[in-house]
This record gives sequence, C-alpha cells and structure tokens, in this order.
Amino acid sequence: MALVELRNVSKIYHLGGEEIRALDNLNLDIEAGEFISIIGPSGSGKSTLMHILGCLDSPTHGTIKLDGTMIHHATVSELAAIRNRKIGFVFQFFNLLPKLTVTENVELPLIYSGAKRSERRERAMAVLKLVELENRAKHRPSQLSGGQQQRVAIARALVNSPKIVFADEPTGNLDSHTGEAILDLFRRLSQEGRTIALVTHDPEIAAVTPRRIEIRDGKIALKVDPRLAGLDRLPTPAVEAAGAAA
Ligand code: ADP
Ligand code: MG
Repeated sequence: MALVELRNVSKIYHLGGEEIRALDNLNLDIEAGEFISIIGPSGSGKSTLMHILGCLDSPTHGTIKLDGTMIHHATVSELAAIRNRKIGFVFQFFNLLPKLTVTENVELPLIYSGAKRSERRERAMAVLKLVELENRAKHRPSQLSGGQQQRVAIARALVNSPKIVFADEPTGNLDSHTGEAILDLFRRLSQEGRTIALVTHDPEIAAVTPRRIEIRDGKIALKVDPRLAGLDRLPTPAVEAAGAAA
C-alpha cells in the first residue's frame, strides 16, 4: 500500500462562467520513503496538486488515501488535524514568524498538537541539531541568512515527525550556492528514510530526485521531457563509456 494514493482526481474551478480544470483525472502513488519531484511549467497545476496532497484543499472529483485513510470527504477542520499530524511544509519564502525565536518557530506545530513545554523544547532542539542550527536557537529570523532561515523552516516541517514533507520551490529565494546546500540537506533527510516531495519548475532541482513526475495542463505527462526533467544534464553511462574509450 502506497503512502499516498490519488485516484481519478480532478480539481475544477469556476471563474466568471468559465470552467478551469486545474487537475484533470489524475492518478498518482507515492510510496513511503520516496524522494520525488513534481515538475511542470507555470499554471500546469503543481500547487493545486500539492494543496490536495498536503490536505490544504479537497478535490472536486476522485479519491485520496493518505496513510491508509480516505480523506477526500474530510471537512476543513478534519483536514487541519490530519495536516498537523502527518504533513510538513516548506515554502519558497520560509514563512517564519519574525517576532518568535528560532526555537519558538520550530515549536509551533507542537503547540497546535498540544505537546507539553518540556517535550516541545526537546523535540525542537533535536530537529535544530538535524539541520545544524542548534547554536542559533535564540536568534530571531531577521538575524539569520536566507539559507539558515530555510533550514529553520525545514526543522519546523520535521518537528512533528510527519509522514511526508512537501517543499514548494524551496530554493526559489536563495542564491544558487545556498540553494544547493538546501537540496543537499533534503537529500540527506531522504537518505535517512523520510518521504519528501519537491515542487518546482526548475529542471536542475528535479534532477536531484530519483523519481520525477511532470504535470502538464493538469495531467501527468506520459512522456517525460528530458530537458524539463533535467535528465539532459546528467551524464549517461553510454556517454561516459564513449568518453573513456576515446
Ligand atoms: P502551478 O502551481 O503549476 O503554477 P496552479 O496549480 O497554481 O499551477 O494552477 C493551475 C491552474 O488552475 C491555472 O490555470 C490557474 O490559473 C488555475 N487556478 C488555480 N487556483 C485557482 C483558483 N483559486 N480559482 C480559479 N483558478 C485557479
Ligand atoms: Mg504554483
């Protein structure tokens, strides 16, 4: 059984008499432990898909099973509860609260889930250590670099031990060097067994993950475009062999 099972999922918006099929009869499985990227051009339906996968929104048609439970009919408050327990989010603009310290930002999901203060501190420090920021626990977000702020956001996404972490353009606001460090961190977290989905329009980011799915006009593209998926940038064994022979 896959961790996430989407079956015949459509999301239809009605705008001024026009029908917009943001997702069109989509099927997708994500296994526990997978490191996957969801790539596609602007307007293809990536954010809509992430919102449905991440329990921020419900589909118009179709079914979604998360961790063994059918959730497509869940109410808004049921979705919020599932989200808090099972999903972690990382966003392009970090979305940290400026008045809270690093530790307090990381503890937020635990406050919503009702954990005791001592447990909150302990778990926040454990994930800060994981992202190598335990020595910035008392700083405010404004006292950190962009890359450090994103690592705090990643710690916050991990603090509830979610079943899956969604990262929507997580390097989009970082310089390329810092962005690479963040992708390295995701790679390491994935190697430790976490399930991670990166949402991106950037082929170089998609190239980092072992599996990628491409969304086009609300559908999963059957034939992967190697340029869009970044595959044209990866050295192929054939090319390497030819180079070695030359
Ligand atoms: P992406 O994240 O790939 O850029 P989105 O999922 O945001 O794409 O959008 C997919 C399509 O659905 C687009 O055509 C967009 O204009 C439309 N759309 C998204 N959200 C809404 C909404 N709330 N109301 C109407 N149309 C929407
Ligand atoms: Mg989007």
